[in-house]
Amino acid sequence: MAEYGAQPRMGFFTDTSVCIGCKACEVACKEWNGVPEAGGQDLLGLSYDNTGDLGSNTWRHVAFIEQPAVDLGMPTVGAPEQQSEEEPGVRWLMSSDVCKHCTHAACLDVCPTGALFRTEFDTVVVQQDICNGCGYCVPACPYGVIEKRESDGRAFKCTLCYDRLGAGMEPACAKACPTDSIQFGELDELRERAAARVSTLHSDGVPEARLYGHDPEDGVGGDGAFFLLLDEPEVYGFPPDPVVTTRDLPQMWKRAATTAAGVAAALVVSFLGRRR
Ligand code: SF4
Ligand code: SF4
Repeated sequence: MAEYGAQPRMGFFTDTSVCIGCKACEVACKEWNGVPEAGGQDLLGLSYDNTGDLGSNTWRHVAFIEQPAVDLGMPTVGAPEQQSEEEPGVRWLMSSDVCKHCTHAACLDVCPTGALFRTEFDTVVVQQDICNGCGYCVPACPYGVIEKRESDGRAFKCTLCYDRLGAGMEPACAKACPTDSIQFGELDELRERAAARVSTLHSDGVPEARLYGHDPEDGVGGDGAFFLLLDEPEVYGFPPDPVVTTRDLPQMWKRAATTAAGVAAALVVSFLGRRR
């Protein structure tokens, strides 16, 4: 194992512009990590989505967003002859979502047992044998990623395949993705690759292409898992300006300590006053 601090930060770049919605990433994640079934196999009425959202039993989730078609070279529904200018059909935005492995991870900040920890790869992992199921991490996550498993009581989420990384392998979802929509590697190198891809798409006439979660100056200090999107983040269910929920904790503790000191001083004064 590499010396602590010598290992570069590792992460995911998910390029949604080449996702074909095959769900191989969802399946590979479940198989490798032994994640239980999230529910039935029925579709939810959300296009071809049958998992709905990230959660304790869905560590990778492929979202399908249907929009009126525009000419982006994306797959459309129906045979070409069925589409006309009056009925241009539908385009799908497909995106494989995952834990963001935030630079400032609120889930980790609030965990009272140390079950959530930062690995030598700069990823965020839950140790199941230490999690006591208090659930503090669940509302702390600005992305709604981590969740308690009802049948178990403990919190679960993507580990970025910590066991595979330790063995020199890439995460199961990235390995299974047939289009390289999910790319794993050193975060700095991924950011360069992503910027080049956005430039290419812009010069190819796709001005909508943008990155999400790549900026170390954003409200969570940037994400270890970031995305290339073809529309606003909200369209994909991402918060537009995520902020680490524990940002104000130091000031809150300082204020609480000042208040407590003031109350203690008042009690002493009152006690001494009564004795005179
Ligand atoms: S996305 Fe949520 S669960 Fe994942 S590291 Fe960030 S705060 Fe923790
Ligand atoms: S495996 Fe790749 S192409 Fe298939 S749904 Fe997942 S991200 Fe998209």
